[in-house]
Amino acid sequence: NKQVVLERYIEGAPKETDMAMKMGKIELKAPKGSGGILVKNLYLSCDPYMRGRMRDFHGSYIPPFVLSQAIEGFGVAKVLDSDNPDFKPGDFISGLTGWEEYSLIRSTWQLRKIQPDHSIPLSYHLGLLGMPGFTAYAGFYEICSPKNGEYVFVSAASGAVGQLVGQLAKLHGCYVVGSAGSSQKVDLLKNKLGFDEAFNYKEETDLDAALKRYFPEGIDIYFDNVGGAILDAALLNMRIHGRIAVCGMVSLHSISDTKGIHNLYCVVPKRIRMQGFLQSDYLQKFPQFLEHVTENFKHGKIVYIEDMNEGLETAPAAFVGLFSGRNIGKQVICVAKD
Ligand code: NDP
Repeated sequence: NKQVVLERYIEGAPKETDMAMKMGKIELKAPKGSGGILVKNLYLSCDPYMRGRMRDFHGSYIPPFVLSQAIEGFGVAKVLDSDNPDFKPGDFISGLTGWEEYSLIRSTWQLRKIQPDHSIPLSYHLGLLGMPGFTAYAGFYEICSPKNGEYVFVSAASGAVGQLVGQLAKLHGCYVVGSAGSSQKVDLLKNKLGFDEAFNYKEETDLDAALKRYFPEGIDIYFDNVGGAILDAALLNMRIHGRIAVCGMVSLHSISDTKGIHNLYCVVPKRIRMQGFLQSDYLQKFPQFLEHVTENFKHGKIVYIEDMNEGLETAPAAFVGLFSGRNIGKQVICVAKD
């Protein structure tokens, strides 16, 4: 059983050498009395939050990875054997599994059964119809209080979460601008994902001036995926009673962005509501999310961009690439097709 394991706990940005390939042994059966299922992993998800589990820190909402064991992460898998009446061989599931070819999953309560549908790729259950897509949905509708016609800014806009936030905002009748880290991503935002405008933040020497150019009347909603300098500039450009949904701060995972925030005082005179959130607090809305997004996807009103790497051994590089913007769209690893 080929596995990707974490070799050591890290500080700062992750490196490929922090992870290693290992051969483990696994019996291809779900042990009697375990209540578990034995699955073949098909697609694995690379998500920025996993960086937090690579630290030796126990005070977070999620514990660190166990060293030398397969890295735990979201995946889509096929059930090979089951000791659980809710699952049978041949079922497809999505949920927490391991960065390995086969996994024995004992804790099955958080798994979701997938009904195969030819119009939706299985891997989309890691992105558009999975945790990142739900993050976009919960963050936009539950935190941003959007209104028709409002001005919305999204950072890391071509990524797994950002690309859906922008499209949901467009469907809601908002004016949407995204920032991303390359001209290729900017092109996708404008020409494939339906954003009204987009810009490459790496080419802007003055982010405040860039936002003033795209939002001459100011920003009502900033969906923040990155923190750091972009958040600082957004604060200066928020309108009165604006909302900032703090989804993540991917720029702070690497030590390169040490500038910090200077403009937080803006929340006072502008009466900005700035709120962090975790998608897991809103899971009761998951069925509504699935219905809304699936329906719009099937009617061609939502599209989704995936960055698919082939082979388990590509996972460490793909994961590390999230922190330099190497991924174009949702980063997924294909371990096996069926
Ligand atoms: P993405 O698919 O957007 O991948 C990460 C992207 O971040 C990169 O492609 C890169 O895009 C951008 N990035 C990396 N480093 C920097 C930097 N220094 N400055 C600015 N941008 C940077 O990831 P996700 O969509 O999966 O996640 C987006 C955010 O949402 C993350 O912060 C994540 O932690 C958060 N999140 C929060 C959840 C919650 O419940 N609150 C749940 C899921 C995700 P580019 O080329 O444009 O720079």
